[in-house]
Amino acid sequence: MLRFNDIADRVLEYDPDCDLALLQRAYVYTAKVHEGQERLSGEPYLIHPLEVAGVLVDMRLDAVTIAAGMLHDTVEDTLTTVDEIKRLFGEDVAFLVEGLTKISKVEFSSAQARMAENFRKMLVAMSQDIRILLIKLADRLHNMRTLHFLSESKAHRVATETLDIYVPLSHRLGIHWMKRELEDLAFRTLHPDEVDELEQNLRGRHAERQEYIDEVRGILEVRLRDAGLEADITGRLKDLASIHAKMVRQGTGLDKIYDVIAFRIVLAGDTGAVYHALGLVHSIWPPVSGRFKDYIALPKSNGYQSLHTTVIGPYGERMEIQLRTDAMHM
Ligand code: MN
Repeated sequence: MLRFNDIADRVLEYDPDCDLALLQRAYVYTAKVHEGQERLSGEPYLIHPLEVAGVLVDMRLDAVTIAAGMLHDTVEDTLTTVDEIKRLFGEDVAFLVEGLTKISKVEFSSAQARMAENFRKMLVAMSQDIRILLIKLADRLHNMRTLHFLSESKAHRVATETLDIYVPLSHRLGIHWMKRELEDLAFRTLHPDEVDELEQNLRGRHAERQEYIDEVRGILEVRLRDAGLEADITGRLKDLASIHAKMVRQGTGLDKIYDVIAFRIVLAGDTGAVYHALGLVHSIWPPVSGRFKDYIALPKSNGYQSLHTTVIGPYGERMEIQLRTDAMHM
């Protein structure tokens, strides 16, 4: 179980002046009011607000947000009132906890599910302060991580809602790691059989894939270095959910194993280096028509910038490559 000291140590690493006393008081208070309550896992309820606080620390948020994270279920699930939170922890923390309590009262029915976009907009509008949304996302992430304790039908409902609302929301906010984890957890819940099959299949050809990654990396490293470009090149397995979506789209099995690998080239220097590297990539392997996207000249609405291309790589296999600068990657 995550302990308060772990949280405090990690906050101090990125925010040495943070209000530790506030965090300590929030911790003691939430432990007191949730005492005797249990999660469906049978563990003490306190684990949940602490884990939510831990996710907020992963996002390097401030003490007020982390304190509100620890207190986020107190008004909803205990006898605590917003006035009491205000008296004990101040206006800011109370404002965030109140916002979260309001959001949790909005029921997400199947009728509304068809209007997920509207629901998402309403969430954003109700939140007023982006920190409310960030705490809500951290809350959802921990609930998704512990979804297996729910009944199947309930777990399906939560996973579907996560895909409809919280995956697009985290994507829009540019929190890529959270988007990936939420999507992966939802996919595992909704399609357990496909996940088993995919994972078995992927494990079986692990060595073959690693060889392919090394070969492509080797070629790229030499060519970029010869051109005077400094780059960090990684090859990775694509997410299960996106591999599955692709197989459904193309109606194929997993025999095209290279289709599941994506490469990323992160370049030192400015935008010019990225276009230079793209030219080199296209001169080594021919690009697939219609697959090139310039998100540097036309960034995504969340600010994302990169070049995306698909090329015909070694052995005639298509592979996706993303190129960007260090700054864009950050
Ligand atoms: Mn909660």
